[in-house]
Amino acid sequence: MTFDDFYFDYGLMDALDAMGFNKPTPIQEMAIPVILEHKDLIACAQTGTGKTAAYVLPILNKIAESDHSHLNTLILAPTRELAMQIDQQVQGFSYYIQVSSIPIYGGGDGATWEQQKKALKHGADIIIATPGRLISQLASGDINFTKLEHLVLDEADRMLDMGFYDDIVKIISYLPKDRQTLLFSATMPPKIRTLASKILYKPEEISISISKPAAGIDQQAYMTYDNQKIPLLGEIFKGTSYQSVIIFAGTKDKVKSLQFELKKIGLKAKSFHSDLEQKEREELMNDFRSRKVQVLIGTDILSRGIDVDGIDLVVNYDVPPDPEDYVHRIGRTARAETKGTAITFINEKDQRRFHAIEGLIEREIPKTPLPASLGAAPIYSPRTSKPEHKRTFKGKRK
Ligand code: ADP
Ligand code: MG
Repeated sequence: MTFDDFYFDYGLMDALDAMGFNKPTPIQEMAIPVILEHKDLIACAQTGTGKTAAYVLPILNKIAESDHSHLNTLILAPTRELAMQIDQQVQGFSYYIQVSSIPIYGGGDGATWEQQKKALKHGADIIIATPGRLISQLASGDINFTKLEHLVLDEADRMLDMGFYDDIVKIISYLPKDRQTLLFSATMPPKIRTLASKILYKPEEISISISKPAAGIDQQAYMTYDNQKIPLLGEIFKGTSYQSVIIFAGTKDKVKSLQFELKKIGLKAKSFHSDLEQKEREELMNDFRSRKVQVLIGTDILSRGIDVDGIDLVVNYDVPPDPEDYVHRIGRTARAETKGTAITFINEKDQRRFHAIEGLIEREIPKTPLPASLGAAPIYSPRTSKPEHKRTFKGKRK
């Protein structure tokens, strides 16, 4: 199958050419015809499979073929980074067809707010928004949804995880009932089903085998004690030439402290976390994309949706509690059929978590022995290791 099979507008085909999209990905092959037929859709496919273009392309085609002088499409996404990325893709694809879009997200200063407000007043074909900020802008009354035709929920699972359920329901109450609704998600937990049953009408369902990391990822793991992790990172970077690296850690505090610990061993890295101002985050992402910053440290915020090409190494400084997050984290490398490496550090307490991951991805990851200079490592024995400490309440809770 090629993009020719969809009979897209010529302007859109030219943009696809310019962006180097030669062949639709599986989710695109399956979703695009359904969307062109104006049906509601639930689509489940892991990160990095090309979900954005799967909905952006058919929607742009429909807008290009209509008289477009009104707000046509609302796209909701969980984070400002993702909203910006979607906006960039929309801009890229619509280069030759003059479709306009406005990204609406929080975190900026008063000027951003005013800019967004002005843009809304002026109008556009597509709004790409985070739910929280859109709710605030709704109050201004400048958004006219009466001719809206498409609602897209991108990374619906993430939006619900972030507590946007009520905001989403409220936003939808402003939209015409007669619309096409498309829900995209990397996972399909029951709460997504509940939401879908409320807001979609007779949806088609597409699911592409869940939770299998891309084949191009070389997955490795080390058993290590916590105090061996920094020296181990030093060893891994020694004599190699990784151009673009993400190190994931479980908490914001860990991320911040890692930046300093790495500096001590001569590794320049920057940390990405929610305490940064939005401007700082944007600059940091740009510096990372341009390789000015080669090593980025972040929490799982970074693991979803962030689209940076050519990351050659992902390090899990600790094992994520949710096995799906492992797939998302390592999915940052080996995007769109390139190759990459993912290395996970497993301390004695994280063994069961790692075992759960191996269960999810249905394969065992080889445990590389530590370099001898670092001393003895814990032994991988997930079945006999103690379960993680759980807090229990003894006695009465007030
Ligand atoms: P997802 O939303 O499923 O995580 P994205 O839409 O962000 O995935 O796409 C992942 C990457 O693959 C992006 O860099 C995107 O530009 C690229 N991509 C998507 N579809 C194609 C295609 N058909 N041909 C080439 N590259 C593609
Ligand atoms: Mg996506």
